[in-house]
Amino acid sequence: MSIIPNSTQILVIGGGPAGSTAATLLAREGFDVTLLERDVFPRYHIGESLLPSALEIFDLLGVREKVEAQGFQRKPGAYLEWGKEKWSLNFGELTGDHTYSFQVRRAEFDHLLLEHSKSQGVKVFEGTEIRQISFDGDRPCSAIWSQSNGDKGEISFKYLIDASGRAGIMSTRYLKNRHQHNVFQNMAIWGYWKNVKRLPGQEGAIAVGSIPEGWLWGIPLDEETMSIGVVIHKTAYKERRTKKLEEIYADAIAQCPLIQDMIAPGELVSDVKVEQDYSYTSDYFCGSGYFMSGDAACFLDPLLSSGVHLATYSALLAAASITSILRGEVNEEQAANFYDKSYRQAYLRFLVFVSAFYDQNRGKDSYFWEAQKLSRHDFSGADLKLAFLNLVSGVEDLVDVQEALPDLVVGEMSKRIKENHNLRQDKQVLKDKSTDAAIQNNAQFFNAVEGFFSLTAAGAIDGVYVVTKPRLGLAHTSPVRELEPSGLA
Ligand SMILES: Cc1cc2nc3c(=O)[nH]c(=O)nc-3n(C[C@H](O)[C@H](O)[C@H](O)COP(=O)(O)OP(=O)(O)OC[C@H]3O[C@@H](n4cnc5c(N)ncnc54)[C@H](O)[C@@H]3O)c2cc1C
Repeated sequence: MSIIPNSTQILVIGGGPAGSTAATLLAREGFDVTLLERDVFPRYHIGESLLPSALEIFDLLGVREKVEAQGFQRKPGAYLEWGKEKWSLNFGELTGDHTYSFQVRRAEFDHLLLEHSKSQGVKVFEGTEIRQISFDGDRPCSAIWSQSNGDKGEISFKYLIDASGRAGIMSTRYLKNRHQHNVFQNMAIWGYWKNVKRLPGQEGAIAVGSIPEGWLWGIPLDEETMSIGVVIHKTAYKERRTKKLEEIYADAIAQCPLIQDMIAPGELVSDVKVEQDYSYTSDYFCGSGYFMSGDAACFLDPLLSSGVHLATYSALLAAASITSILRGEVNEEQAANFYDKSYRQAYLRFLVFVSAFYDQNRGKDSYFWEAQKLSRHDFSGADLKLAFLNLVSGVEDLVDVQEALPDLVVGEMSKRIKENHNLRQDKQVLKDKSTDAAIQNNAQFFNAVEGFFSLTAAGAIDGVYVVTKPRLGLAHTSPVRELEPSGLA
């Protein structure tokens, strides 16, 4: 095994989808990238249902063929029994090359992406945990790592991508800038089933069913195996604490005719797992010399399966930003403003949408309108469902970032988030006895998600967007003023 270098141009912490994507993109641009991952892959991870935006990311990584060859379950769309309505979403109705996605075993999927990083020149070291980061002022400059055999060392770097997932080493240990959403403090309980019924005519689709206290997923991983999960608020979970986990799980399934019917002929073949899936965000996603990508920056309730999309999307933004800084095409401040704003916009859009969805009685036409309001394109002459599909497939984010960012969308999101904020708070106040703490938590969370709106006044981000051809980077819509050399390349 090769030795971990003492220095590297770019250090990536974590080899999940965010870390491997950022590392591969940077290595393909010719930079010296080292990735340190705590676990040894393949390792288990939840988060199995991907969005069609993944296809574009796979192409950029040069990994599409490998993913296609792995034989993951193709995902043609989704089937929902939500509130009083039943409806199907078919990604085939999308235009371009985003007409399907995959349901993946994350152990295999993450391993494949990380092996691909190695093949593209990233120096990957597994079983290597970052224990401590050192700073030069507020700029991270080196990190201490350790391995289970007792080996230890230090690596210095010019740029850091923190892709350490929910551990979020930069945000939780050093910046202390993470805030939780009070309402989306959910618990997820799930297990794996064999021989269940698949959705007729939509075999690979994700099935989503609502129950009064939350919702359930059914994700087919192959012809035999299905991941069946339940998401409920932590207060509902706590109220049932005297029951066994398996009972809470079974009770929730029994409340959802869609999933109950699917599992009826099948059997549970795994332990029942439980994990907090509290939504959170950070006041800022990047700073001097560092970018936080994927769950390390923010996390959103998995209702719309947005996690891997946001992870790989933010990795693309971080890689494009660092590439252009190192080539002297933008300065650090421009790149940081751009990164924070564009990642926050993508996160916010899903947040607003998930909030709307939790209001189960609004009906699908209302969700389609919500999607139109959050979209830059006018779908009113066509089928509004397309606005919805574009948004929940992640395609809207990819298009946005390759053009100048639209203030219209940002303005609309600001409005919607305030509405949803009030709505969520009111509901929580009624339900939750510890109202002071609840309100304070939510206020902090929303202050943090709204942080970027103040940046628009400075106008510093305007006119910068991502280009992927002929090479990755940030481009300006108007002529560039002379840049100060960063001296860091
Ligand atoms: C219940 C639930 C269901 C979900 N369902 C979906 C879904 O259907 N679809 C979807 O897209 N998303 C889903 N998600 C979200 C998804 O799991 C995450 O958003 C996604 O894994 C984020 O990727 P990441 O690369 O940021 O982090 P991760 O995949 O968590 O990777 C982070 C990596 O960093 C490593 N690491 C951590 N600390 C250190 C350290 N100090 N040193 C070195 N390495 C370190 C970890 O070992 C890990 O491998 C779900 C999440 C939950 C909780």
